[in-house]
Amino acid sequence: MKGRIHSIETFGAVDGPGIRTVFFMQGCPARCLYCHNPDSWDINRGEDIEIDEIVHWAVRGMPYYGSKGGVTFSGGEPLMQGEFLVEAMKALHETGINCAIDTSGTYLDCHSEEAIANCDLVLLDIKHPDPERFKIITAREQDTLFEIIDLINGYDKHVWIRNVVVPDINDTEADIEALNAFIRRIKHVDKVELLGYHTMAVDKYGKLGITYRLKGVPPMGGEKLNKLRELVCLPADAVSQVTIDKK
Ligand code: SF4
Repeated sequence: MKGRIHSIETFGAVDGPGIRTVFFMQGCPARCLYCHNPDSWDINRGEDIEIDEIVHWAVRGMPYYGSKGGVTFSGGEPLMQGEFLVEAMKALHETGINCAIDTSGTYLDCHSEEAIANCDLVLLDIKHPDPERFKIITAREQDTLFEIIDLINGYDKHVWIRNVVVPDINDTEADIEALNAFIRRIKHVDKVELLGYHTMAVDKYGKLGITYRLKGVPPMGGEKLNKLRELVCLPADAVSQVTIDKK
């Protein structure tokens, strides 16, 4: 069985716990204003990959995973290739490697439930708690996010929440309060990551001939992000922030 892949990152340290091999799957139905991988949107781009190759890449990293690390399927939106994910995770579990799915909650089909059921951790990217602003950011309806959350809760999956914080879009105390209320819908939240918006992908848009819609919006400052972090409704050691202030 073949999947479609955008890229592979070995020794990934920011997409789930521990050191991980990260498979960035090709294809995404969303069109997030700040997406830093617009070249992952079209599922017909990228390259084919076989399950055996996934296992091969993942096994190479095993000496570094320790008790926490493993594999993360990110994207793009990995649930667009749910059937492939299920087979890949079954093969990886046979070698003892744990698997996380990094999803935006913008896509759901008949394979999504089995994919969620088979993963060991979900990284859930909550674009915005408010349905209207969710739609503005992603160009998708929020309904699928709720269906994904129902699956996550139904299978008692543990979750890391991720939220990209963008100046003047979702960087107020009220936005974090709304995020807190939203997070309470999820049974097992182990961590919340506030990711500071950055502008490093702007050049990619130019090369792809796609208009960058957040032109002129500055990168999210670390000081403000730190203050927002203190408002998140989890113990301080379960909340982190990431800022990249380069242009
Ligand atoms: S869900 Fe992720 S890959 Fe898809 S458009 Fe949004 S940021 Fe980009």
